[in-house]
Amino acid sequence: MSEENFGFATRAIHVGQEPDPVTGAVIPALSLATTFKQSAAGVHTGFEYSRTGNPTRNGFEKAVASLECAKYGIAFSSGSATTAAIINLLKSGDHVISIDDVYGGTNRFLSRVANTQGIETSFIDISDSELLKSTIKSNTKLIWIETPTNPTMKMVDIEAIVKTVKSINNEIIVVVDNTFMSPYFQNPITFGADICVNSISKYINGHSDVIMGIAVTNNEKINERLHFIQNSVGAIPSPFDCYLANRGVKTLAVRMRQHEKNALAVAKFLEAHPLVEEVYYPGLESHPQHELAKKQMKGFGAMMSIRIKGNLDTSNKFLSSLKIFTLAESLGGVECLCELPCVMTHAAVPPEQRAKLGITDTLIRLSVGIEETEDIINDLDQALKLANEVSNKKRKMNH
Ligand SMILES: *Cc1c(COP(=O)(O)O)cnc(C)c1O
Repeated sequence: MSEENFGFATRAIHVGQEPDPVTGAVIPALSLATTFKQSAAGVHTGFEYSRTGNPTRNGFEKAVASLECAKYGIAFSSGSATTAAIINLLKSGDHVISIDDVYGGTNRFLSRVANTQGIETSFIDISDSELLKSTIKSNTKLIWIETPTNPTMKMVDIEAIVKTVKSINNEIIVVVDNTFMSPYFQNPITFGADICVNSISKYINGHSDVIMGIAVTNNEKINERLHFIQNSVGAIPSPFDCYLANRGVKTLAVRMRQHEKNALAVAKFLEAHPLVEEVYYPGLESHPQHELAKKQMKGFGAMMSIRIKGNLDTSNKFLSSLKIFTLAESLGGVECLCELPCVMTHAAVPPEQRAKLGITDTLIRLSVGIEETEDIINDLDQALKLANEVSNKKRKMNH
């Protein structure tokens, strides 16, 4: 039985992780060497210099590629370095189409770095297929999708977009940022995407202690070119980070199951809560794209946004009253995190656009962790009640 036939959790633990052939150590040794001995000039074991290739990094790349149902994986020092390397596949004069509410760092790179190198980007509502078709030009070389998006959990149909794009020009590279779902819940390569990106810093490492990214692909030419860029630019992760992230990967399946179980319980509780106006979670039947979520994803993940009743003061009181949730940016770790997009992750988005995207003063993003379900729900409940008391008091004082 070949490795590809094994289920997800088995591949997560075994692919790229053969016991050490010399010592028998069950966990492959962390390979810190910068350089590798050659038996004669130019004769080596496949490793020459650690920027170009490192055994710990290689093992990790193989594991994640397998989980994303891809042949090749190329790891970088961050999710953002992965994005930059992919855009480096292009040249001056090329055109990119990106989903409009793309991750802020991707938006920043495309609109403030890539543009200075002559690469122009159109940010559009990619789910509008007529708009997508009319935006594709003869120099369009790459489409950047993220699904679900941040913080309002909008989704796009990856397969439908691939079909539309490839029917116009088969050479256009379709990239999907899969960070919010992780390979456990969504595999863009199986829907025809050319490259799938994950910020390892989130679910894949899962312990909020590594910054790293990876691109995976089935396309041999793209793989070769990305390896060339990885080696040329040198934005590689350290072996130690690869070792830690590899350890994280082994529990990705069990973590994601618990993340989702908690998130679904939290979403249902909040949807019925009198102090909550709206809950954006793909696993709820009330989510406008719940059917697409069921078709495209193997689960619904653990990211959600909620709109609470009140104003900015209510939001601040709510966030400061939470005891289990930590007020912090980022997501995907074992611990519950919360944040206020309008003043934190999305502060750089112009106010008009924030309003258009529904990022108001009371929109709060939650990354539901894997603590006890009941503790998480009780924490949210007590904080909502405290926040509401504060807004009631203020209201009375104003009378
Ligand atoms: C965090 C994140 C990134 C960037 O990854 P870093 O590892 O922080 O550079 C890209 N896309 C999404 C969706 C993210 O959440």
